[in-house]
Amino acid sequence: MSRKGLIDDLVSANHILFKEGVLDGFGHVSVRDERNPERFLLSRSIAPATVTARDVMEFGMDGEPLDARGRKPYLERTLHSEIYRARPDVVAVVHSHSPALIPFGITGTPLKPVFHMSGFLGSATPIFEIRDAGGPATDMLIRDRKLGAALARTLGNAPFALMRGHGSVAVGGSLKQVVYRAIYAEVNARLQSEALRLGTITYLNDAEAANASRTNDSVIDRPWGLWKKRAKEIG
Ligand SMILES: [Zn+2]
Repeated sequence: MSRKGLIDDLVSANHILFKEGVLDGFGHVSVRDERNPERFLLSRSIAPATVTARDVMEFGMDGEPLDARGRKPYLERTLHSEIYRARPDVVAVVHSHSPALIPFGITGTPLKPVFHMSGFLGSATPIFEIRDAGGPATDMLIRDRKLGAALARTLGNAPFALMRGHGSVAVGGSLKQVVYRAIYAEVNARLQSEALRLGTITYLNDAEAANASRTNDSVIDRPWGLWKKRAKEIG
């Protein structure tokens, strides 16, 4: 894909994640530069729905911008850089505060796949406890490389992690995959909360989760096209 194509997809991902209720005025999505894996692309610090190609900045693995030109980066950019450093397989990262997931980061009720669309969640979703790395008085944000590295350690090899009292992080092998995961993790959280009120849940078992995840990955272009169309009115 050309660099312009990659930037256009990143702009689309910002708009889609806003439209689908994953990002609001906050949160962000990044993509690794496929020509130089030591670099990644992320918007300057603005609301995702308003991102254009001109807002996209390039960052190094230290989380610092290479071409700032007066543009202000997001405070939590080391969340992205430290995950890219720890996970060579990761091509895209979404960080959000999407609301339905928050209860699962603070109650001890584990987030688990309740339907085939969220099979990627697998059997256990890790939860990042910022007090372990940052002490009892942080502002909850991933403000530096140390906190970013601690979050990446909690994520381990998983596709998704909750951040206690803050939000979540989704990773994927492409922008399409990470957008899919961020959207369906939120949907799963909503459904799981509803189902917990009704009674005992039968979750997908490990084999069902893995097989459903593989099947959905093979048709990932279909929802991407729809989401892009729906987000078009943003620009
Ligand atoms: Zn955040």
